[in-house]
Amino acid sequence: MAEIIPFRRPSLKEQHKGNTLCRHGHHKWVIDRDKQFDVKQGKLVTVLRCSRCGKLQHKLL
Ligand SMILES: [Zn+2]
Repeated sequence: MAEIIPFRRPSLKEQHKGNTLCRHGHHKWVIDRDKQFDVKQGKLVTVLRCSRCGKLQHKLL
């Protein structure tokens, strides 16, 4: 007798919850370590990335 395992991914649920927060403007900004510093137009900026929705934000130092 095969045991039926529901195809559920808790991370997906958290992701949905996070996206809901993101839609309300509550992003979870973390410093993108791969490109922590990016030079744009001669200015040094810190690249922030939302760990939930992956949105990028450049913050001027
Ligand atoms: Zn977000």
